[in-house]
Formats: sequence, C-alpha cells, structure tokens
Amino acid sequence: MRVCPVCHEQPRQVEPIRSSFSSITFELGVCVACQMGLVLNPRTDFAQLYGPEYYEGRGADPLINYVADEMAGSAREIEWNGIVQTVSKIAISRGQDASSLRLLDWGAGLGGLVRTARTCGINADGLDEGYASKVLDEKGLMAPALPELSEQYDVVTAIEVVEHLVDPLSEMRSMASCLKPNGFLFITTGNFSKVRGSLNKWYYAQIPDVHVTFWSPMAWAKGLRQVGLDVAPLPIVRVDPRIIQYKVTKALPKYRRPLASLLRLSSIPTRLIDARYGISEFAIGVKPSS
Ligand SMILES: [Zn+2]
Repeated sequence: MRVCPVCHEQPRQVEPIRSSFSSITFELGVCVACQMGLVLNPRTDFAQLYGPEYYEGRGADPLINYVADEMAGSAREIEWNGIVQTVSKIAISRGQDASSLRLLDWGAGLGGLVRTARTCGINADGLDEGYASKVLDEKGLMAPALPELSEQYDVVTAIEVVEHLVDPLSEMRSMASCLKPNGFLFITTGNFSKVRGSLNKWYYAQIPDVHVTFWSPMAWAKGLRQVGLDVAPLPIVRVDPRIIQYKVTKALPKYRRPLASLLRLSSIPTRLIDARYGISEFAIGVKPSS
C-alpha cells in the first residue's frame, strides 16, 4: 500500500471507491500529517490508461474531450487564456521580463495551452508522455529532451496534472530542475482541504483510475520545499477570472456546462468562488537564485 509521498507516513484508510469505468475497487487514504488524499492501490498501466481513447473522451475520464477543447470558445480555451494572463501577471510582479518569457507546460496533453501561449507571444513548449508526446511532436509543440531543459524556463505550468501523479515528488523535482533561478512553478488542482464530505464522494475522486493524489495546500507547500523550491503565496488579484470560471464549469453536472461557459465573466464573484474552491491557496514554487 502507498504511503504519503510527502511525509512518508502511513495514511489513515477511508471508505474505498469503485470505478464505474474499470470496475476496480480503489482503496483510499488520508495522510493525517499533511491532509493529502491518496488512492492506495493506483493503476500503473499508463500506456493503457492514456491512449488515444483517453483524449477523445472514451477513457477513464468521461469529461475529457481534447477534440472539442480545441474549438474556439470552448471552456478549456477560456481557461488556457486565463492561465496565460495569470502567469504573465505573476511574472511581471516578480520583476521578470514578460516580453521574453519562456514557458514549459508539464503534462501538456495535446498542446492547447502551449498553442495559446504562443499565440500570445510567449516562447512556450510542452512536455508529456506516451500518445500525447507523439501528438505534441507532430504539432511542433514538444520541448527538447529533459536533460537539455535544465534551468531553461522562467515559468513551468502543470495544469490539472499533479492529481494524476503516482510519484509526484520525483516529477516535481524534474519540474524544478527546468526552472531558471527566480523562475516559478504554477499549478492548478482540486483543493482537498475544501472538501466537506468524504473523499470517495468528491468529484475529483470519482475517476480513481487516473486521479490518484489529492492535494491540500499544506501538502503542496511541504512538497515544494522538499524539491528545493521556495514557497510564495499566490495573490487572488493575480488569478485571472477565467481560471475561476473553468473551475466552476468543471464542478457542475455535465449538462449545465455549456450554459456556465456562457456566463459573463464580470458576473462571477471571483472572491466568493475562490473561497469555496481554494484555487489561490496553492503556493507558487520559486527557484532560489543561488
Ligand atoms: Zn503527508
């Protein structure tokens, strides 16, 4: 059984969940020390899990549809623009030169964020594995091989990625190695500390074939320090409302989704929603300058 990847503590076992996709019963646990939630018997047949079916919405996550996402005006496209704006604002506030920003999108999928960032004039590359890396390569969006990426990027993004990682610390260490001194790591994931009911009822845990690591801001900050990054707060004023909008859209029942993506951005009470979903509670990881 898995121990907490951050604290190495044996988690407290909680009610399991049966996957409606694979019919596998997944054991769940919560680390008492850092409030991380864990699938204790995660799948590791990644080539099987993340094949073309996964990206076409016929895999373990029925809400994934990268084909629809690529269409203009999709909820995902709105989110990608929001992320580009957010990391640009953070970079400027940290004294980085926004006109020459180099961005690496870790777990880039089929490359939507990389494409959006490039459209906005950012020098962006994507990184992924298996089928996605093949597609990124074909589209010319793929980063060079990992050893060549050392200290090459001002920003590393991992958008809805860290909940998929069975061995998150080793991947976070690799993400950190790609950052230039003073560069930063920006992530989005579900905030497990905001969950009111049991882990197996939370929408993030409903797809345990692929979502295996559920982060609390405390676990995230601890993890950042372990991979040698400094923990810096993410002020909500720098979080673009479009990221918030996407979070809300994602949490809604499927049929209400198109409606939510049409909501006027200005009508969304960003602070209230952030208080509920805790998006800004996840720290930025900053590479120390020396
Ligand atoms: Zn822990």
